[in-house]
Amino acid sequence: MGISDVIPVPVAIDEEIEKWTIWGRPVMDVWFTTTEKIHQIIQMGPIKNVLNWGRKNSLWFLMQPMGCCGVEMLVFGCPHYDCDRFGIIPRATPRQADVMIISGYITRKYLPAIKNLWEQMLEPKWCIAVGECAISGGPFYDSYNIIQNTSDFFPIDVYVPGCPPRPEQFIKGFVELQEKIKQRKDKRGY
Ligand code: SF4
Repeated sequence: MGISDVIPVPVAIDEEIEKWTIWGRPVMDVWFTTTEKIHQIIQMGPIKNVLNWGRKNSLWFLMQPMGCCGVEMLVFGCPHYDCDRFGIIPRATPRQADVMIISGYITRKYLPAIKNLWEQMLEPKWCIAVGECAISGGPFYDSYNIIQNTSDFFPIDVYVPGCPPRPEQFIKGFVELQEKIKQRKDKRGY
């Protein structure tokens, strides 16, 4: 495709622009592009780094407190711990959230609901498992009604141990997630 296929220009200009390159690629590929080409450009590196820099500094988490760890999550989102300074902001709707915090135990009855919330979150999205219950069942180990291994149902990027972990550990978990996003070592490799 030449530029004259997009806008009316003299053929000479069209042929000249065909020779231009940007980042080693024909400029026509970059300027007049398709979704596929945008993806190719993002995969080239620097732009993806910029995107991930923005993503890691705006991790909005979904407020869905579950077990007793959920209370710590609420405290973590309050002004005393000032998680906003990391770009970590609580959201009340999955449509605006980037991070799902599994804050404690998941009962078998609740599993479909929380999976539904996860599905409603837009990409890119990440998941943090907080508390022994979310990691391995905790005090409810081998219980008939508690999910024992959340990683079977959600792509967990970071585990925050404790029963319950303190809000400072939530911050540490998020900082770890930020580092993983920066290095592209998060579970889904954004
Ligand atoms: S890990 Fe401990 S504090 Fe957290 S939900 Fe389970 S029992 Fe409650």
